[in-house]
Amino acid sequence: MNHSLYIHIPFCRHRCHYCDFNTYAGQSGLIPAYVDALIDELRIVSLAKQDIPIHSIYFGGGTPSLITVPLYKKILNSIKAGFKLGSDCEISLEANPGTLNQEYLSDLYGLGFNRISIGVQSLDPFDLVRLDRIHSIWDALESIHHARLAGFNNINLDLIFALPWQDLETWKKTLLRAIDLSPEHFSIYSLIIEPGTPLFNWYQNGLIKQQDQDLEADMYELTIETLENSGYGHYEISNWAKKDENQDFRGRHNLQYWLGYPYLGVGAGAHGFSNGFRTVNTLTILDYIKHLSQVNLLPMPFPGTPAQISMDAIDLKTQMSDFMMVGLRLVEEGVSERRFRNLFGRSMTEIFSQEIIGLIDQGLIEWSEGEERKLHLTRRGIFLANRVFMAFV
Ligand code: SF4
Repeated sequence: MNHSLYIHIPFCRHRCHYCDFNTYAGQSGLIPAYVDALIDELRIVSLAKQDIPIHSIYFGGGTPSLITVPLYKKILNSIKAGFKLGSDCEISLEANPGTLNQEYLSDLYGLGFNRISIGVQSLDPFDLVRLDRIHSIWDALESIHHARLAGFNNINLDLIFALPWQDLETWKKTLLRAIDLSPEHFSIYSLIIEPGTPLFNWYQNGLIKQQDQDLEADMYELTIETLENSGYGHYEISNWAKKDENQDFRGRHNLQYWLGYPYLGVGAGAHGFSNGFRTVNTLTILDYIKHLSQVNLLPMPFPGTPAQISMDAIDLKTQMSDFMMVGLRLVEEGVSERRFRNLFGRSMTEIFSQEIIGLIDQGLIEWSEGEERKLHLTRRGIFLANRVFMAFV
């Protein structure tokens, strides 16, 4: 079965005020050793099972655009040596404005990267300062321009809304400015004030408030309507792809997660799911390098690697619940009754009859009766999605 490959790059120039991702500032001296460890982990997992077909690779972070082109060449060569790469494999890089130039982007494109996800976050100068991003609006615009010149015709922009100080008008301005840039894809998330971040300290000290929930819902609604009117299909709760007859711009890599297909996670803190196992790698950069520098790195039962701190067999009931929870994120596609039966040999309506009936009664999910019977969120369900997902926990 086609796998996806996630590779975590946990380096950043500095930490943004809202960030709780597994990433570290001031450790760029460790990049070469980290890349060697990545290559070792890739080799070990590929030895455990030969010729795994890969149809998407995603370098996420952190700031993957801090890795040099020669190091990416080394990583990609090791992937090509150990895995069976599809000829149309989607190869994505997460990148931050302020770390990009045209030569770098052209070289990446030459290596085979064909999708770039740019962390713009906001196109309002005040937001960027408050979030402590390393870039200006102009850096963001320049990055997109350079990506186009380099040849990328599949660009995602990441945006954040529901910032504590943001009103509807300011968000609308960012959104409209971003649409003017005509990317092929948008990932748009509302801000969560995470413990341990400077934003959380401001919140605890009363300097900022959580965004008002009604206003947040208004911002989300505005986002859905504006993008719909601008030619973007809302295919996942937080993701939109430009409608195009000739190309599907939905992110293949993330679709793999939402459709319940297998993926391998390589790098510090990376997660994977394959062969019925969920894997979690050790978190810190130094620990990761240490795990991979043991003397005898022997192949392990697939998908095990020495970088993992857990590899748990997922029981059937959990796999079925996960399938429902992540599948219902796909607002257009929904969860297919046929696929559920093919995967698990049981009927979705038999396993989750109570949950499905309850959620339909609340007007949160409904059946679509096209060629195939599928369960998906209603318009109301999109706004109350967490309530729906919790029903399947
Ligand atoms: S660039 Fe991204 S990963 Fe790095 S600190 Fe900022 S939000 Fe976190």
